[in-house]
Amino acid sequence: MFLSRTLVTGRSITFECLFWFVIYSIRVTISVVKGNITTVTADAIVNAANASLAGRVGVDGAIHRAGGPAIMEACDRIRNTTGRCATGSAVLTIAGKLPARYVIHAVGPVWKGGTGGEAELLAGAYRSSVALVQKQRLTSVTFPNISTGVYGFPKLPAADIAIRTAKAWLLQDPYLRIIFVCFYDENYEVYKERLA
Ligand code: ADP
Repeated sequence: MFLSRTLVTGRSITFECLFWFVIYSIRVTISVVKGNITTVTADAIVNAANASLAGRVGVDGAIHRAGGPAIMEACDRIRNTTGRCATGSAVLTIAGKLPARYVIHAVGPVWKGGTGGEAELLAGAYRSSVALVQKQRLTSVTFPNISTGVYGFPKLPAADIAIRTAKAWLLQDPYLRIIFVCFYDENYEVYKERLA
C-alpha cells in the first residue's frame, strides 16, 4: 500500500516519510540507563532539587559533590535574587565539572498521599525542565527519577508521569534526546518495561 501510494504522488511519500520519521524519533529519543547521573554526558543534567536549592542528600548531593562548589555559588545567587524555587518549577545553572553544559534544578513534590496535587506538580517539574532545555536550544537532557527518593512519590505513577510528559515534548521537538537515569534496579525495570 505504501509503495503504490508513493508511486501516485511525490507528496504522499513526503508525508508518509515524515510520519514514520517522527514515530521512529519518538522511539529512539527516549531512553533509560541505570547508573549515576553525574557520569552520563548530556547538554543538561536535571537535578531533583529542593525549594531552597540547598544541595543535600540523594541525587542533589551527588550532583553538587561531582560538579564542585561553582554550582552551589550559582544556586546562592538565584536564591538571593529570586528567592526559593517553587515546587513544580525549575531553574538553570552552570554545570561545573559535570559532563554537561547546564544543571537544571527541578523541584518535585513531597508525596502526601496523592491528594495535594502531587501528580500535576511532578509533571510541572518535568515540563519546566524541558522548557529550559528548549529555551537554551539544547538537544539532550538526562533526568533522575524526581521525587521518588526522600520525597516518597510512588515509583510506578512517577515513571508514568515522567514518560508521558517526555512523549508529549517529543511531539513538539523530535530532535530532543531524553535519557532517564535510574539509580536503583526497581526504577530501571519500571522504565525499561514502560519504554519497551
Ligand atoms: P527526591 O527528594 O526528589 O525524592 P532523591 O535524591 O532522594 O530526590 O531521589 C530522587 C531519585 O534519584 C531516586 O530515585 C534516587 O534513587 C535517585 N538517585 C540518587 N542518587 C542518584 C544518582 N547519583 N544518580 C541518579 N539517580 C540518583
